[in-house]
Amino acid sequence: MLRLEQETPMTTYSGYCVKCREKREFEGEKVDLSNGRFAAQGACPTCGTAMVRMLGTDH
Ligand SMILES: [Zn+2]
Repeated sequence: MLRLEQETPMTTYSGYCVKCREKREFEGEKVDLSNGRFAAQGACPTCGTAMVRMLGTDH
C-alpha cells in the first residue's frame, strides 16, 4: 500500500536555542539536506529563533 505524505505531522525535537541559551523542545519538520543527511528544522517556541537539529543519515 502506498500512502502519500501530504500532511507531515510535526515532530518534537530537542535542540539548543542560541538566543535563549537554553535547551528547548521545538516542533520541527524533517528536511533533506543535499548531502544525503537529514536535519530537523523548526523554531524556538519561546523566542521564535530558527532551530536546526542534525539527524544524520539513518533517521
Ligand atoms: Zn529561544
